[in-house]
Amino acid sequence: MSLSPDLAAAVADFAALDRVLVATDFDGVLAPLVLDPMDSRPVDGGMPALTSLAQLPGTTVALVSGRALEPLRQLSGAQEPLVLVGSHGAEDSRHAGGLALDEHQRGLLATLDDELAALREQHPGIRVETKPAARVVHTRGLAEPEAQAALASARGLGQRHTGVEVTPGKGVAELAVAHVGKGVALVDLAGEVGADAVFYAGDDLTDEHGFAALADDPDAARAARALTVRVGDGETRARFRVADEDAVVELLKALLAARRA
Ligand SMILES: [Mg+2]
Repeated sequence: MSLSPDLAAAVADFAALDRVLVATDFDGVLAPLVLDPMDSRPVDGGMPALTSLAQLPGTTVALVSGRALEPLRQLSGAQEPLVLVGSHGAEDSRHAGGLALDEHQRGLLATLDDELAALREQHPGIRVETKPAARVVHTRGLAEPEAQAALASARGLGQRHTGVEVTPGKGVAELAVAHVGKGVALVDLAGEVGADAVFYAGDDLTDEHGFAALADDPDAARAARALTVRVGDGETRARFRVADEDAVVELLKALLAARRA
């Protein structure tokens, strides 16, 4: 396997810039999607390439995930200076404590817990993941009609509360009481580190918000240089596409080699 000529040229241009932000999603990009989200493991080569990139001058590296910060840290094995952005931007490893919920938001989470317990009685196969500012319904492993019905109910349940943001995904529905979004998180981080350009790879609907936000970055020069990569199929606003996690590793290694040169 090798990069397409267009992608190889984009990598070379990107690697030559003074200050860059290299960010990626975790699940479905660095780690294959698995039945139980806590069984997830990164494929060989991806995290070492990111760790090496993070040690180069003018290079900030971030994992940007829907996962809560601690499981993201644990499963990825990422250490400083890698930046971890969790819960779709609601948590950031650079800020101690991450996140503060008000009384109303804490009350909403308690209500969601009750309602999701009732939903689990109707659909015993679903898993409910607890995050600091959200609950996530997972249906992987369920027969498709039941998965669809359970996700529709979960989304409906979230939509009945103002103050709950519903984010659908592949076999998941996330109900969040504090929501930033990967797009806002990426553009903010790029601004904070003074990046000339941003690399971002993702595989899901939430990553499309990231690709769109980077294309519409208020810093027009940075927007024009965005190197966005969709992993797998599906409609996308990313400029490039690669097939799978192994292709991401190859891409990150190419970026590392070009940046070292
Ligand atoms: Mg993903």
